[in-house]
Amino acid sequence: MEFLPEEEQTKVLEHGRGPLLVTGGPGTGKSAVLRERFARLVRLGGDAERIVLVVRSRRGRDAARAVLMQRLRESLPNLQVLTVHGLAHQVVMRRQSELGYDRPPTVLSADEQFKRVEDLLAGEDRKDWPAYGSLLGLRGFADEVRQFLTRVQEALLSPEEVANRAGAARLSGWKELATFYQRYLQALDDEGSVDFAGLVAQAAAGAGQGSPPFDHVLVDDYQEATFSLERLLAELRPQSLVVAGDPSEHVFAFQGTTDVPIRRLASMLPGTREVDLRTDHRGRSRVLRAISAKHTSEEHAMAARELRRIHVEEGVPWGDLAVVVRRQGGQLAGLLRALDDAGVPRVAPEAGISLMADQASAPFILALRWVAGTSDERDGLVEALLTSDLARLSPATARGLIRAAAAQDRRPSAALELDAGLDPSQIQAMAALRAALAAAEEVAQRSVLDAFRSLWTALPFARSLVASGGEDGRTLDGVLALSEAVARAADRSDRSTAAFLDGLGAEGEGPGMTPPLGPGRDAVSVVTAHGAAGTEFDSVLVVGAVEGGFPSLARPEPMFDLGVLERSISQAERNRLRLEDERRLLRMVVGRARRRVLFLASDAPAAGAKFTARSRFVEELGVAWTPAPSGPYQDLVTVREAAAAWRRVLGDPSRPAPDRLAAVDGLLRLGEDPGRWWFQRDWTDAGMPLHEDARVSYSRLDKLENCALQYVLSDELGLESRSGYHAWVGNLVHRIIEDCEGGTIDRSIDAILAAVDQRWDARQFPSLAVSHAFHELVTKQVLPAWLGEYGREPALGREVGFEFEYEGATVAGFIDRISPVQGGGTQITDYKTGKSRNAGKAEENLQLGIYYLAVQNAPELAPFRPVKAIELAFLRERRDGEIMRVTAGFTAKNRDEYQDAMSVRLSGLIAEVRSLLETETYRPNPAANCRFCEFKPLCPLWPEGAAVLPVEVQP
Ligand code: SF4
Repeated sequence: MEFLPEEEQTKVLEHGRGPLLVTGGPGTGKSAVLRERFARLVRLGGDAERIVLVVRSRRGRDAARAVLMQRLRESLPNLQVLTVHGLAHQVVMRRQSELGYDRPPTVLSADEQFKRVEDLLAGEDRKDWPAYGSLLGLRGFADEVRQFLTRVQEALLSPEEVANRAGAARLSGWKELATFYQRYLQALDDEGSVDFAGLVAQAAAGAGQGSPPFDHVLVDDYQEATFSLERLLAELRPQSLVVAGDPSEHVFAFQGTTDVPIRRLASMLPGTREVDLRTDHRGRSRVLRAISAKHTSEEHAMAARELRRIHVEEGVPWGDLAVVVRRQGGQLAGLLRALDDAGVPRVAPEAGISLMADQASAPFILALRWVAGTSDERDGLVEALLTSDLARLSPATARGLIRAAAAQDRRPSAALELDAGLDPSQIQAMAALRAALAAAEEVAQRSVLDAFRSLWTALPFARSLVASGGEDGRTLDGVLALSEAVARAADRSDRSTAAFLDGLGAEGEGPGMTPPLGPGRDAVSVVTAHGAAGTEFDSVLVVGAVEGGFPSLARPEPMFDLGVLERSISQAERNRLRLEDERRLLRMVVGRARRRVLFLASDAPAAGAKFTARSRFVEELGVAWTPAPSGPYQDLVTVREAAAAWRRVLGDPSRPAPDRLAAVDGLLRLGEDPGRWWFQRDWTDAGMPLHEDARVSYSRLDKLENCALQYVLSDELGLESRSGYHAWVGNLVHRIIEDCEGGTIDRSIDAILAAVDQRWDARQFPSLAVSHAFHELVTKQVLPAWLGEYGREPALGREVGFEFEYEGATVAGFIDRISPVQGGGTQITDYKTGKSRNAGKAEENLQLGIYYLAVQNAPELAPFRPVKAIELAFLRERRDGEIMRVTAGFTAKNRDEYQDAMSVRLSGLIAEVRSLLETETYRPNPAANCRFCEFKPLCPLWPEGAAVLPVEVQP
């Protein structure tokens, strides 16, 4: 299409020598006029190799190249359309000797840079890092340091400047950081390599030497510049420099860019002329609407319906529609499912959660996570694995296996090894899955490519996927995207499966979730807000337009924020700046649409949020919220809506018979199967009790004592969510104590602390600060206390497993420690890593009581009789210089009394378990301690658990 410039754009095209700044809002044609100027310079005889157009992203580069190839038509293999790093690379190659390289420097990828930082930190002496010594081995800390190294180089700060400014600002911990920065640069220099940020800084240092490398330089999106790019452009000294941007669209501050260079261009380059483009070519007739639904699922269904409606009624191609989400996260999976359910084609995902949400690739990612996962991680994955396409078990069957594993006192992940209750085909499928996972596990550490190849060849799921040919809605697009991502990972320095999965999870915030639509791929783009930058669509739907999404103030600040080198920044100021960032982000998203922006929100809170409020930004744009329309719709846009409408006609006896017959006809043509319609079945009844045998443990009985409903939901149905980081810490402490007692770890504080550092996993915690606090607690209080009080003397028994029959039930468990007492007999100890606040008396503690009865009843525990004392040891607390303990001692006088009381209590609980198994009636307990119960939404005693569709009982 011919480019017809308006008056202001003509000034850009006719600009002669010197710098020119082009500004203008979204859709005013900044990118278009830069491309046109580039094309005209080439057509007018300019040396194409000395004319360069610099764009922000690879996607922008590909789009600009495609337009220019069309526009120029000549064959131009060396079309100089480059990203900032591409430009810097060219300059460094040309100035290689001036920069002191005797051969071209190796450019480290982001992964390689991370690995290099991690390795260098591992070689540091903790004593040289008084503030952060304990964090040196953590991946999270290495990533924070990597970001710091990138940002300081982008800001052109030398190690000395960082040290001086940090000293002036009295920042602790920064001196060693500056010293490490110096060592890092030296290490890269010694090996002749450079990272991405260093590449631009090097280019800036070398560009000013010799004759200018380019005649004409054009730069797009200059609102997202770094100081090193600013210096590079100044040093290039081209005949003409045209930069375009819009300070009000600056949204990538979190990636280290700043709008300072565009705002001060005129003062940095005297003689800069300015052109402001004001004609909005894109959104002159743009309409904004906002719809709120009652629930997220309704919101997603609304988005899918609206896309379908625009496509069907207005004839807009799928590829000209976009759905924007704030970030990748749990809600995105629900949205993608809603689009798939409604048959809305969407762009093939590239990475992160979108890959995980893809029907075909998700099972492979699940399998990779399993083979690379720790035991704890597998515990959290096992249910998803068993119910996925890999094993195809029903949720009830999967939970049954997990319960069976628990009943054998095994970890939940052991459910994969069980076959109880499965039919022969399921047993065969489980065996194949186990074999495939085991084979992949053998190579997972070495290479994700090998692990993926192993899964692809061994998993029956892969064969069924290929055989289905996409007929069941699972296309191979997602698997193809996954295999491409795996292939790219194989080129990195760390090729392990764990590193690959880390990389997938690391793209939660930024762009890159979806590749640009290629020609002929007519599908709706689902992009993050940042990923929408530089795009254009007919209509844009913004899903999740609520506080917490737009704006989202929850993003963690970097550990080493360069801003504090200039001045101290209060939290209030940070929030204000973040709010401005977020406001610009939403306006940038709005600017992507030519005709329509639809904001969607729901009143139901997202997972983890306490409440939901609609985005203030939507109201600031002057758009009023309207409630989501509810069916039945007059304009039917999906097969499902048609089926629902005709079922309604069919089921309404007041409708004329011909209408109802026509509805039957329509339903049959749609392929509906009335036998599968919902609401026709009664409660399921297995016709037999849930279990034939009663098997109990302390944790189950403790829950039962509190509340029968909580007990059935958590222990029988397995609905309890994965335990949190407190439990992870408790488990780690118990494992280390166990290894110390078993001789795997030396009984010395140094060996214990080294084991903690080796096993510590900061990803288990909600933030680095929490991880740090718990690391301190474990290394400074809990384990030193254990070593001082228990660790010097070996125990009589540790992690003592038991199982004994009691009134027809099997009681099982593990005792942390059994030690000898003076004068004969033993003491039972249970270690606690929590606080003693609500501990109560030892003689009333059910856990200790069961352990006491175990020693009395289990034959294998006979050598530990008689028990003279029981105690709970709270390792994190001290009283009068000693560990806080809750204890009880027994004499010949009170022993029988205690034993009788505990026996009666255990008998009562076992009788209750039996009665519940018989009646299958599990009631909530009005006197229960509900504070930590997560089943309130399922509990009729709480408002959130009330019936959704109350049924009126007729008198
Ligand atoms: S909320 Fe309270 S009463 Fe309801 S199930 Fe949980 S513990 Fe029982």
